[in-house]
Amino acid sequence: MSSDVSPDPLRDASLRDPSRDALRAWFLGPRGENADLLERLLIEALRDHVFWRRNYHPEDGLTIREMDKRREGYDEAVATLTQELMGLLAELKRGVPFFSGRYKGHMIFEQTIASQVGYFAAMLYNPNNVAIEASPVTTRLELEVGRQLAGMVGYDPLQAWGHLTSGGTVANFEALWVARNVLYLPLAAQAAADALALELEVEGPGGGMTPLRSLSLHELLNVRPGAAMDLWGALWASGSRKEILGHLRDHSLQTLGYQAYSARLATRFPDVLPPAVVLVAATAHYSWEKIVRALGIGSNQLLFIPVDDRFRMNPDALWDMIRELTARKVPILACISVCGTTEESAVDRLDQVVEVRERAWRELGVAFHLHSDACYGGYAASVIRAPDGSLRTAEEIRASTDAVADADGSHWPSEAWVRSMAALEGTDSVTIDPHKLGYIPYPAGAIAFRDKRLRELVAVDPPYLTPTQGLHSAEDLFLGRFVFEGSKPGAAAAAVWLSHKVLPLDATGYGMLIERTAAGARRLHAALRAASSAPATEPFRLVVLPEPDLNIVCFVVTHAEVTTLDQVNALNEGIYARMSLSEPGATPQYILTRTRFQTPMYDGAIEPILEALGVGTVEGWRAGGADGLVVLRATVMDPFMAETTGPDHVAGFTRALLDEARVVHEAQLSESPARSPSGG
Ligand SMILES: *Cc1c(COP(=O)(O)O)cnc(C)c1O
Repeated sequence: MSSDVSPDPLRDASLRDPSRDALRAWFLGPRGENADLLERLLIEALRDHVFWRRNYHPEDGLTIREMDKRREGYDEAVATLTQELMGLLAELKRGVPFFSGRYKGHMIFEQTIASQVGYFAAMLYNPNNVAIEASPVTTRLELEVGRQLAGMVGYDPLQAWGHLTSGGTVANFEALWVARNVLYLPLAAQAAADALALELEVEGPGGGMTPLRSLSLHELLNVRPGAAMDLWGALWASGSRKEILGHLRDHSLQTLGYQAYSARLATRFPDVLPPAVVLVAATAHYSWEKIVRALGIGSNQLLFIPVDDRFRMNPDALWDMIRELTARKVPILACISVCGTTEESAVDRLDQVVEVRERAWRELGVAFHLHSDACYGGYAASVIRAPDGSLRTAEEIRASTDAVADADGSHWPSEAWVRSMAALEGTDSVTIDPHKLGYIPYPAGAIAFRDKRLRELVAVDPPYLTPTQGLHSAEDLFLGRFVFEGSKPGAAAAAVWLSHKVLPLDATGYGMLIERTAAGARRLHAALRAASSAPATEPFRLVVLPEPDLNIVCFVVTHAEVTTLDQVNALNEGIYARMSLSEPGATPQYILTRTRFQTPMYDGAIEPILEALGVGTVEGWRAGGADGLVVLRATVMDPFMAETTGPDHVAGFTRALLDEARVVHEAQLSESPARSPSGG
């Protein structure tokens, strides 16, 4: 039986590029095409592990003897195990077909074979990366992976520090935890230095060294992160570590907690300290809301910077916000820019954000921690790295792809995109999820700090116990000291490590993989654009949002008779219901997801969309409140979507979308006779 998306082997055979052949070896494949390869490697890992056991004190003899295996109880236990496993295997088939080109839902595809085998191999040893003594091998792998990710974003691997987490939420939490401690560090340092009569200097507002004691409250809260760490080092070097620790504890938020801390500050400084704020792009992931709540910062202090019509943080709005906050002497704890928004895969113009930060320091004497939430898009930094570590230009990257041109004739990536990615090196910290665009099994998030000294601000036991001795000192290997989590799987580190060996973090590995997904997304984008006004689509219309920065294509379906925002939402919500696994037992042809653009977060992006839909004004949208606009999303993590030699899921998706739109519209018409042409 031939399906409507079956491949045509002759089509585009001339486009085959040998350097892309590796793609076909990296994954098990939508039909398990590489099953023999994966099986061979898994068995290799298992056998090798068994040899290790056999050779470990062979004089110990056998605990489970062959005759034990002949006993009734043994047989019964094996029967239970086998039977129950069969049940589990059957259950699991009701899972989500992430591996299929028909899955365009969340940011997940299948995992690299390297990461699956790496995970399985290490899992047999079950190392715990909380400390080196429980993971002599995988803690080192984790730190190596941390250095690789730091290097990929352009940090100096010798100065930087990175590690894995269970995910992006925890990684982001750690970034803000550190940033908060850096913010208040100079205050505690000043108090400790006063108590001990120490004369310390710190970089002041003009850039030159200033006596610490002369800084005002506002100035203390605007010491640049690097200068704060220099001060931290100078403080520890200037007296008895035990005394310093005692005084730091008396004056730090970490030990006192917000309530006692504020009371203490009020006695020290005449001016009231307004709560410090966190600036995030309006498109920020909802984890930030959880994090400011958990850290006691308070969600009132999470301020959203408007985005532009490409869903990127508006740098002018950021500047205005910083100026306005500074006029009220509100301290800025951190600014969080997004590299690959969860909804649209938008990449903030980080180069411009970095410029705003420099200008804030230069013109206003305002400093803050700059973080890039690159949980989704971080691996795309490999696109701009050549194997020798140098940066590729947009032109070089474009020359190596066959992606279709955008509607305006331009090609991905733009110069601006490349500059935004290169600007990652100008941040203080970055979070990157290997379990998203790294194609690694859960759980695997990661964080890297440009300045490894920062981690000392969250170390649980005081740094004077084990002085830092460079990257391979004993303390480096006790990860639990510096990270929020305790026990965590060394298997995840092995998975990431092996995957990075097979797919390097440059243009030949992850760079190529991600470039392919972006090319696939643009093919889909172009196809939806073409369908949007094709005669066959009428009376439906597709309003396709601008070309994505990475690989998520967003669009809204409408119909000639659909004239209000509510009707648009109902139609698209209906399509989502038919093209998702949200309802039990659903068997959709293709799977997508949806999001809801809401006011005021999306005010900067909504106007052209409402206009194209012909459903009212921005004022009406603002007044409409919580309902917002339902937007359908297709996430293209499948690197084969760009290719035309396999199943044509671009055509298949487009067709399925319009088929479902018709079904939903018909059903909605019959439900509300008032809207049907004959009943009206
Ligand atoms: C996914 C995501 C997160 C959270 O990561 P988890 O691994 O799900 O905890 C944070 N920020 C962004 C931009 C994300 O895409």
